[in-house]
Amino acid sequence: MKIGNTIEEYVRSKEPATRSALLMYESAKRLKIPPGAVQEMVKPYAVRIQRLPVPILGQVVNVISGIVLHNRARGPYKGGIRLDKDVDLWETTELARLMTLKTALSGIELGGGKSGISVDLRALYAHMTRKKRFNGAYREFERVAKIDILSEFAHHFAPLFASHEYVPAPDMGTSGSEMVRIYNETRDPASVTGKPDGIEGWLPGRAESTGYGVYYAILKDMEHRGTAPSDCTIALQGFGKVGSHAARYLFEAGARVIAITDILGGVKDDGGLDVPELLLHCRQAGCLQGAKAKSITNDALFKLKCDYLIPAASGHVIHKDNAKTIGAKVIVEAANMPVTFDGMKTLHERKVPIIPDTYANAGGVIASNLEYRQALGGPKHTKDSVLAEIRHRFDTMLEDMHLFMRKGRTMLQASTDIALARVYETMVQRGLL
Ligand code: NAD
Repeated sequence: MKIGNTIEEYVRSKEPATRSALLMYESAKRLKIPPGAVQEMVKPYAVRIQRLPVPILGQVVNVISGIVLHNRARGPYKGGIRLDKDVDLWETTELARLMTLKTALSGIELGGGKSGISVDLRALYAHMTRKKRFNGAYREFERVAKIDILSEFAHHFAPLFASHEYVPAPDMGTSGSEMVRIYNETRDPASVTGKPDGIEGWLPGRAESTGYGVYYAILKDMEHRGTAPSDCTIALQGFGKVGSHAARYLFEAGARVIAITDILGGVKDDGGLDVPELLLHCRQAGCLQGAKAKSITNDALFKLKCDYLIPAASGHVIHKDNAKTIGAKVIVEAANMPVTFDGMKTLHERKVPIIPDTYANAGGVIASNLEYRQALGGPKHTKDSVLAEIRHRFDTMLEDMHLFMRKGRTMLQASTDIALARVYETMVQRGLL
C-alpha cells in the first residue's frame, strides 16, 4: 500500500525549474541584481526532513515530513504546513520561496519557510478499514489521523517552533485544530499562528483573513475596471479555508458565484449559487457532493465564461495546455502558484491578467503577523482591526505595484520586482550577500 512518498520520492533529484525561481531570475535581470546573488536568494537556507512514526488505529504508520527554511533576512521564517498526498521536497521549497516574496511584498517583518507532510489519508483509510466509502466515518478518521500526525510533527520540531526561528501556520490539508498540537507541545502562543478561537494568543479574524484578502483584491480590481460586484460572475476552485470565505464575502457583496468545485466534484448555477446554503451543506457533508445544484467538473470550471476565475486549491492547475481554453477574463491566484510558468506565458499572450498569489492571498500572512506580534506582547486586535490592517496593506501593495506597472510591467512582474528588491537590499545591508 502506498500512503505517501518515500524519502527518495520526497527529495527527488535536482530541483525542477520552478515558477518562483524563474520569476526571480527574470526579475533580477530587470533589477540588475548580479546572477550570483539571485542564485543565493533562490536557494533555501536549510532543509529538514523528518520521518514521523505515527500510531494510528493501533498501527505505526511512517509519514515523511519536511521543513524548508528559505530566507529569514527580513524576519523569522514564516509559512504554513501542507498535508497532502502529492507533497514533495521541491514543492515545499517552492512554497517557502513564495513566502519570502509574499512577506516582502506585503512589507511585514517576516521571512519565508514552509512545511510539507506527505500522506494519502484516503488510501490509508481504505487500507486500514478495507472501506472505500469516504463518508462520515472517513471524516472522523481523517480528523483523528491529522491530529496524530501533527502531534508527532510538533513533538519532533518543538525546539525549532519554541525558538521562533520558524513560525508555522495552517495551509492546505491542515487547520487550527492541528495548530493546537504545536501549542500543546511548546505552551507558547508565539510558536504558531492560525490558532483557533479560545487558544492562548488566538487572533479574531485569522480564520477568514486569507479569503477576505482575496475578496478585497477582487473588489479593488473591479474598482480599477469601473465595474461592481453585482455586474460580475465568479468561478471558484476549492471550497476550503480560503475559497469558502472568499466566496461568502463575494456573495455578500452581490457578485454572482456561478460555479464552485472541490476535490470530489462541483456545483454550478448560471443564475448564481446560494453560497451560505453550500457552506451549511459542506459543514455537514464535508464536501460539495450532494448539494442541490447541477454538477460541474474541475475541467469544465476552467472553461466557464466568467469575469473572475479563482483557483483556491492546489498548485499548477492552470498550465500551458488548459491556459488556451480558460474562459475567465481575470485569474485570481487565491491558491499558491495555481498557474505554471508556461501557463502564465499563454495567458499573457491571450491578454488574460493574473492577480498574483503573493498579493491576492497575502491576507493570511498579514493576519498571522499580527497574531505573532500580539502573542509576543504587542497590541490586542479585534476582527475589525485585523481586516482593516489587511485592507491597508493591500492598498499599499497595490499602490507600489501600480508604480511598476506604469513602466509596462504586468502585476506578476511588478510584485516579484518589489519583493526581490526588498529582500536583496536587506541581505546586502545585513552582509548576507
Ligand atoms: P483547504 O485544505 O482548507 O481547502 C482546499 C480545498 O481545495 C478543498 O475544498 C479541497 O477539496 C479542494 N481541492 C484540493 N485538491 C483539489 C483538486 N485537485 N481539485 C479540486 N479541488 C481540490 O486549503 P486552504 O487552506 O483553503 O488552501 C487553499 C490554497 O490556498 C492552497 O494553495 C494554499 O497554499 C493557499 N493559501 C492558503 C492560506 C491559508 O491561510 N489557509 C494562505 C495563503 C494561501
